[in-house]
Amino acid sequence: MTVSEEIRKWLVFSGVLTRVGKPSRYIGKELNAVLKDPAGKLRVLLAFPDAYEVGMSHLGFKILYRELNSRDSIFAERTYLPWKDMIEEMRKSSVPLFSLETYSPALEFDIVGITLQYELGYTNVLALLELAGIPLFQRDRTYEPIVLGGGPCASNPEPMSDFFDAFVIGDGEEAIIEVCGLIEKNIDLLKSGKRRELLETISEVRGVYVPSIERKNIVKAAVADISDYEIDGKPVVPFMKVIHDRAIVEVMRGCNRGCRFCQAGIFYRPVRERGKEEIVEGVREILKGTGYDEVSLLSLSTMDHSQIGELTDSLLPLMEPRRIALSLPSSRVDAFDVEIASRIASIRKTGLTFAPEAGTQRLRNVINKNVTEEDLLSCAMIARKKGWQRLKLYFMIGLPTETSEDIEGIVKLSRRVKAIGFKELTISVADFIPKPHTPFQFSRQIDENEVSQKAEFLKGFSGRGIDIKIHNPSSGPVEGILSRGDRKVGRAIYEAYRLGAMFDEWDDQFDRRIWDEAFKIASIDTEYYFKGYSTDETLPWEHVSLGVSKEFLVSEYFRSLKGQTTPDCRWTGCAGCSVCGRLGITNVLRKV
Ligand code: SF4
Repeated sequence: MTVSEEIRKWLVFSGVLTRVGKPSRYIGKELNAVLKDPAGKLRVLLAFPDAYEVGMSHLGFKILYRELNSRDSIFAERTYLPWKDMIEEMRKSSVPLFSLETYSPALEFDIVGITLQYELGYTNVLALLELAGIPLFQRDRTYEPIVLGGGPCASNPEPMSDFFDAFVIGDGEEAIIEVCGLIEKNIDLLKSGKRRELLETISEVRGVYVPSIERKNIVKAAVADISDYEIDGKPVVPFMKVIHDRAIVEVMRGCNRGCRFCQAGIFYRPVRERGKEEIVEGVREILKGTGYDEVSLLSLSTMDHSQIGELTDSLLPLMEPRRIALSLPSSRVDAFDVEIASRIASIRKTGLTFAPEAGTQRLRNVINKNVTEEDLLSCAMIARKKGWQRLKLYFMIGLPTETSEDIEGIVKLSRRVKAIGFKELTISVADFIPKPHTPFQFSRQIDENEVSQKAEFLKGFSGRGIDIKIHNPSSGPVEGILSRGDRKVGRAIYEAYRLGAMFDEWDDQFDRRIWDEAFKIASIDTEYYFKGYSTDETLPWEHVSLGVSKEFLVSEYFRSLKGQTTPDCRWTGCAGCSVCGRLGITNVLRKV
């Protein structure tokens, strides 16, 4: 009996599925899951370092699954980090991490690809590797699958560099296919233990960083035209409810609005759009290929799509008769947004969210959030007139240059919005964490006490229809260190994992004491990472370029301190960030 048959037998006959929560996380066989004969194919295991319901909601993971499986010579399967109860069962029965398509053990694959979406998922990566039977440290591996990392957090690969053989930085579609092609061609090197030679070969691919090979200037991989990659009309449909239980269509990649705190804005620059016809056709296919009752048009700022009005006009007649909802996540605050939101709400009225991010105009200028109080109030008024009873506002605390006036501004602004007549106003407050590759990468991160004081002050205004929700302040400092850390921080990640840290991004699982202990064991001076960096210092992630020049980030940082804004280059002309020239991509305003 093969290992895969043994795992299948264990799942079916051992009773394990009756003992663990949400057993459909582990059974696979979902609608549209890909099945191929693995013989003679390059085998890739796409591993999401979080629970099934989180990973199944993630678009990038789906894109790579489809792209890899579109090649005859590659078979890509999926796995997600089993929940703790299942991990215990697997350990008791010596069952390794397995794929959901063929129940194959991870060690049978040639590549294990792990996406890094958020820093608090780093210990989950170690859990995946350990469960897979792959040595945690890349230096200890010989014949095991090549462990590849990707996703936005890979743009500062240093904290996780001891655990990955290589990272693909930037858009994955082209680069991963190139890497797979090279591994396929040189598979004998892997099978004969000449791992380093193989890694040297793949390190030549644009966007690939191999931590065991001397650092060089790595420029991110970028897809010039996202339309070269078709919308997946047959995404895998889960049996259970997942976090975002809907079909997702990527309508645009990138955002040039230039919010100075936003790493995704830099990571995905410049803007590239799909044309209206292509999107409508994609949605049509998805509706045929799945049973979803909601389709989300995804991007960092969907309302900025140059054809958004025509697009919704074309999509609504397709969806309305079947009561299929359309959702357009957006953080923009303008009347046009509310107009469109109200049109799509004719099918199903969902909540309305605005993200002013800061309580005063001064601070909104600092962060380059080009939203005025008048914009917000007039949008809220329109929304109320159109029948919305509930509204949600997003804010951050701990932003650079913040004063008590800015915190009080959150309260004042919220009260003015509430006074418009909403039944319920939710104020969601998160602590600001400076991220690599953003203009605020140099900024100081405020400590937990300061966050808590500000949070306590805000909480005091909860009530009378205003519900203030504060993000757990104890995880921010850890996220900040993992985010702006160097290679030394890897030791703390390892120690935290050894001490039991896992699923840290789940509030009820996060244990700050573990991390404090881990930083101590690893001799990490936490203050060093909070204090920020000077603009002429070499930063730990500077060997990686996302295409945006350091000069631009420095200039944006100083402009922020003076409260000067920088308009969206998409509509007002190049602001000089360099990404278009560096990547050889035109900042695509409209693709029709
Ligand atoms: S290079 Fe110019 S046009 Fe291109 S994204 Fe940067 S600022 Fe915008």
